[in-house]
Amino acid sequence: MKVHLINPSNVSFGTAVITPRWLYVLAAATPAAFGTPVLVDETLATTDLSTIQAGDVVGIGVHTGNALRGYEVGRMARERGAYVIYGGIHATLYPEEAAELGGAHAVVKGDGDVAWGRVLRDCANGKPEALYAGGRIEGTEFLPARWDLLPPNSYMWASVQTVRGCPKHCSFCSVWRTDGQKPRPRTSDSVITEIVELRRRGFRFIALADDNFYPVTLTDLELAARQNNASRLAELRAIRAERFGLMSRLAQLPSDTVFYTQITMEAAEDPEFLAAMKAAHIHGALVGVEAVTPEGLKDVYKDFNLAGQNLIDRLRKFRRHDIHVLGSFIFGLPSDRPSTFDATATVAEKAELTFAQFVMLTPFPGTVDFERWEKTMKDDPRHVDGVPLTRGWLIPQSKRPKLFWTHPVMPADEIRRRTQEVWDRFYSIKTIWKRSSFLQSVKGRLAFILISKLYRRMYADTGIATDSARVAWSTRWARLLAIPTRRLFAGRPMPDLQVPPPPAEAAV
Ligand code: SF4
Repeated sequence: MKVHLINPSNVSFGTAVITPRWLYVLAAATPAAFGTPVLVDETLATTDLSTIQAGDVVGIGVHTGNALRGYEVGRMARERGAYVIYGGIHATLYPEEAAELGGAHAVVKGDGDVAWGRVLRDCANGKPEALYAGGRIEGTEFLPARWDLLPPNSYMWASVQTVRGCPKHCSFCSVWRTDGQKPRPRTSDSVITEIVELRRRGFRFIALADDNFYPVTLTDLELAARQNNASRLAELRAIRAERFGLMSRLAQLPSDTVFYTQITMEAAEDPEFLAAMKAAHIHGALVGVEAVTPEGLKDVYKDFNLAGQNLIDRLRKFRRHDIHVLGSFIFGLPSDRPSTFDATATVAEKAELTFAQFVMLTPFPGTVDFERWEKTMKDDPRHVDGVPLTRGWLIPQSKRPKLFWTHPVMPADEIRRRTQEVWDRFYSIKTIWKRSSFLQSVKGRLAFILISKLYRRMYADTGIATDSARVAWSTRWARLLAIPTRRLFAGRPMPDLQVPPPPAEAAV
């Protein structure tokens, strides 16, 4: 019985930006008795079905975006006589769907780190259960990934998780509902050991693939203090201390290490935290800006963000601490007007963002937005290829609507066209060149252009373009750009690098 783990994807670029961490974590969760699993990341190359035999186990991780391809792979694997097991956010939300459409023998809901071993033992005995409750395991139980199984020269960034869960409750996001609002940090020992292993292997760019790297804000602390809630205050302080402890160890790594993470904008008001991030080589962060107006922020339950000039000032604070921001914006909010697009592009430029992404509001399953929208669609008769719009992820990519709900003012095509124009404006050669001025050398600035263009091709054109010719053209370009870009990220292997000691020991 061979174990296969498959990360499904409709497009393969040959080279990928970030390692799909779950593949390597589940490989670590595979008991040695079942041998070394075969890992397939379809963002690199499609699955070779001939390697799957009757009696094998095929584990497929799906999120909403790749569920349709995942189901296709699952059905084909089942036809070959394999046990098919699904996991991931989408399978957690719709376990019946994986059984009905994806040929699932079983679905693991929640975290797979601990449950996976039991699934394999049951398959080996020929009796997998239909549903396994993986639940939300504690940070101390998170497994380090099996980086020894990485294919060489394939990824630009490695990924390491330091905390799961996010205390916020944004309406368009499912993370706080699936991973929970209670932050579950890993021990710094476990994180740092994994990072050192990656540096030994030649990765110097590492994404801290967390839901929210800044789970306790100064406002949270003030609130707990004002409410005289001593136990809450102690709990928050412990989480904050754990973040600082981890960052003090990251700071001891070689100075050319570059980390990137996801964080809320409130971190900009916490100079101590920003200084620790800088010292810890965290030089980049994805910040969910979402909207540039107070009305837009209310639309997404994110009124802890700022708007207007205050927003620009706050985002610039990251740059003052040498943290480059990838700002994420959403278009198609009910309060958006034609003028919102230009205003957003201007904010993105003035706020000194290094990268930006502009996505169209999509009601994702598991979110508050989705539930509200699904209710309003109860009597809507619209279907594509027999699939109702509320199950849009089951509509083939080429026929999938770009905007699922009716906007009060603008037609869907106008929102799509204006979104594309903002991408074009932010990623024109002239503006990228201007943005690259923080780099000293011409070579560095040219590399920055290459990376920016690749990012735009991978994430914009293939996502919002309507005609298949443009998608195919962009995919081809992304493939070509990806090879030289990956070389820019490659580091020198450091086989002798030692794990930095905890801060107390380091001081002795
Ligand atoms: S969007 Fe970010 S801040 Fe909001 S709930 Fe999701 S992970 Fe948390």
